[in-house]
Amino acid sequence: MIISTIGSHSALQILFGAKQEGLNTKIYCLKGRQKIYEDYKVTKQIVLLDSYEELLEMQPEVNEIFIPHGTLIATLNEKVTEVSLPIFGNRDSMLWEMNREKNHQLLEKAGIRTPKSYKIDEIDRLCIVKFPGAKGGDGYFLCSSPSEYEEKLSVLINQGKIQKEEVLGAQIQEYIAGVTMYPHYFNSIIYDRVEMLGIDRRYETNADALGRLSQEKLDIGLSYKVVGNQPLIIRESLLPRIIEYGENLLTASKELFSPGLIGPYCIELAITPDEIIAFEFTSRIVAGTSLYVNGSPYSKILFNEEMSMARRIAREIKMAMGQRRLDELIS
Ligand code: AMP
Repeated sequence: MIISTIGSHSALQILFGAKQEGLNTKIYCLKGRQKIYEDYKVTKQIVLLDSYEELLEMQPEVNEIFIPHGTLIATLNEKVTEVSLPIFGNRDSMLWEMNREKNHQLLEKAGIRTPKSYKIDEIDRLCIVKFPGAKGGDGYFLCSSPSEYEEKLSVLINQGKIQKEEVLGAQIQEYIAGVTMYPHYFNSIIYDRVEMLGIDRRYETNADALGRLSQEKLDIGLSYKVVGNQPLIIRESLLPRIIEYGENLLTASKELFSPGLIGPYCIELAITPDEIIAFEFTSRIVAGTSLYVNGSPYSKILFNEEMSMARRIAREIKMAMGQRRLDELIS
C-alpha cells in the first residue's frame, strides 16, 4: 500500500503517519519544493511536477491512495474532482467545501448557527467583508455602514489588492466577536463513529498582531492569512456540543452528498459568551492537525497511543484492507 499526497500543507504529517503504520509513501512536489521532504526523510519517492494540473492525468501505482489537502483545493479549484488518482474520502465533498453557498448550506442543514449575511444597504453593525478564492483572508476588511463599505472597498481596488470581478462574490457577514476554535473530526467507516481527535487555533497575520497596537494606529490593512497553529483544549462542559456539531454535520452531509464526509473534516468555530457559531466547514485534513504528530490530549485518551490524524487515516486504510472494505473509503 502506498500513501501519496502533494508536497505542502500537512504533507510531513501525512507521510509520517503512513510510515508509522508501516505503509509506503510517495510525494508529488512542484519542482524546487522537495527539499523539506528530503530533509525530514518522510519518503524515498518524490515525483516532481511543473504544475498540479499534472495530477489530472497521473497514472496511479497499484495500491496507491492519494490524501487530498488544502493546497490541492486551493490550486485546482473545481477540477479537484478530476484528479486521476484514487482519493481517500468522498471527492464530491471538496466541491461543497470550496463553494461558500454550499458550505453554508451544509452547516445550516446540520442546524449549526452561521454568521448572518448582509446586503450592502443593510449594513448596520460591525461586519466583516470576505472575498472568494484562496487568498487566505488577505484583503478582508471591517465596516459598520454602507458608506464605510464603499470607501474601504475603493481603496483596496485602487491598491490592486482586490480585483473588480471579485467584488461580486464578496460576502458581508456580521462580525463575530468570539474566540476561534477548529475541532478536527474523523468519520470512521470501519468503527461507524465520529471521533473528535484534537482542536487547534489558527494564528492569523496580521489580525492576531493588531491587538498589540493602540486604537489610533489601526489604519493598517487587515489580513487573516494563516501562518501557524496553536494547540487548544476546550472547556470540558462544552465538549458535548462540539461532538454533537461534528455528528450533525456528518448526518447532513450524507443527505446532501451521499455517502457524505469520509475520514477527516473540520468545523471553523467562533465561541462567544452565549453561542457557538461556525464560519465554515472543511472536508479534508486541516493543517492544524500537524500539531499533534504525537497525538492530541483527545486522541491519546481515545486510543491510548500516539494517534495523529494522518496515522488515523493510515490505520483506517489498513483495517479496511483487512476487511476488504477499501472501496468504501476511496473515490
Ligand atoms: P474564512 O475565509 O471564512 O475561513 O475566514 C478566515 C478568518 O477570518 C477566520 O479564521 C476568522 O478569524 C475570520 N472571520 C471569518 N468570518 C468571520 C466573522 N463572521 N466574524 C469574525 N471573524 C471572522
